[in-house]
Amino acid sequence: MSPAQGAQEAERRLGIPCFHVGQRVSGLFGCVACQFQIRNRKGLPTCPQCGEIIWGYLEDGPRPVPEGEEAVQVPDPAAGQQPVSVEEGVDLGGGAPEVVVEEGVKLE
Ligand SMILES: [Zn+2]
Repeated sequence: MSPAQGAQEAERRLGIPCFHVGQRVSGLFGCVACQFQIRNRKGLPTCPQCGEIIWGYLEDGPRPVPEGEEAVQVPDPAAGQQPVSVEEGVDLGGGAPEVVVEEGVKLE
């Protein structure tokens, strides 16, 4: 598994933005293996405590974009030739699905 795949996998598992060693992102990060926390400013290191290479982003707010990388844009196949608009703060889900409770339903 490549570091990028490892970061994606950890991100799916933990539900927070994850990055791997060498990516230049700043902020507060926690080792996904031992929770060791660092305040990062340049390229992410390997964890000084356990050697892990994947870090979770611990701050609130939008996902930071590593220096030298483009923001991830999901192509919309239905967009056709329309210009792409960028929206910030879009909720990509992850919350609990809405549950509809009906009362007075009789099960015969
Ligand atoms: Zn660690």
